[in-house]
Amino acid sequence: MGRPDTHAIANKILTYSIVDGPGNRLVIFLQGCNFNCASCHNPYTIGTCDHCGDCVPACHANALSISGGKVIFDPANCDQCDDCLTICPISASPMVHEISVDDIVNIARTHRAFLSGITVSGGEATQQLKFITALFTAIKAAPDLRDLTCFVDTNGQLSAKGWDALLPVTDGVMLDLKGFDPALHTTLTGQNNTLVLHSAQIAAGAGKLHEFRFLAIPGKTDTAAEISALINFLTPFGPDIRLRLNAFQHHGVRGVARQWDKMEQAGIERIKAALLAAGFENITTPALYL
Ligand code: SF4
Ligand code: SF4
Repeated sequence: MGRPDTHAIANKILTYSIVDGPGNRLVIFLQGCNFNCASCHNPYTIGTCDHCGDCVPACHANALSISGGKVIFDPANCDQCDDCLTICPISASPMVHEISVDDIVNIARTHRAFLSGITVSGGEATQQLKFITALFTAIKAAPDLRDLTCFVDTNGQLSAKGWDALLPVTDGVMLDLKGFDPALHTTLTGQNNTLVLHSAQIAAGAGKLHEFRFLAIPGKTDTAAEISALINFLTPFGPDIRLRLNAFQHHGVRGVARQWDKMEQAGIERIKAALLAAGFENITTPALYL
């Protein structure tokens, strides 16, 4: 029997974050992604564990075991060495856990006084769409929680039918674009960007595109053609659309991406200047370049 729609596999839960949407937020990072970006800073959130068991002998702390054909994680023994993440052949993590809507509602209640809202992130959050929809529906139905805003942080790889289900219970969407040229996007992520661009238009059309993010990678997505495409795509959204420019860095990245140049501040400032010249007014750039 499959997992109920009210349950999901989570990699991590934060009860305090000021970088995942407006105010202080409860953030649920779901496991699994439909992209496979070499530039991903958390690549161990991409795969979904198939319980092959390869990581169990790699754990020096006896935090992993196998029972009934499944890998069991004991957080009490784990010292966060991350050896299991390094060895996993499919970029999964054995340190995940199943959560339910009721679990998250209870956590939100416990921290209610300090929260502005809830953000579901990933991995790719919308891979577990039914859970998010059930969670946001429950939050909005609870008299003591309905003032919390419900946001989703997504790569945009979601169909119009998916947005039809999600948007009625979602207050804000933060959407990442990895590149405009379709072939480049496929090289960077493993998928084309047709759905991503359409998703941005759907969320903006509903008045719920809280932030549009663009990852600048030297020699790939910082070219004149890419920035021109960025400006042309965003112009119909209006000059006050909230834009965030992210700078490619090496932390956590895999394979060929380790050889790519890091994005320096001067390059980001050049892109920001082009966007300002095109009339965009609300542009956020990285606070740090590490
Ligand atoms: S986390 Fe990776 S290595 Fe460990 S059991 Fe799952 S798929 Fe295998
Ligand atoms: S991070 Fe993984 S390998 Fe390291 S102690 Fe924890 S479970 Fe074991």
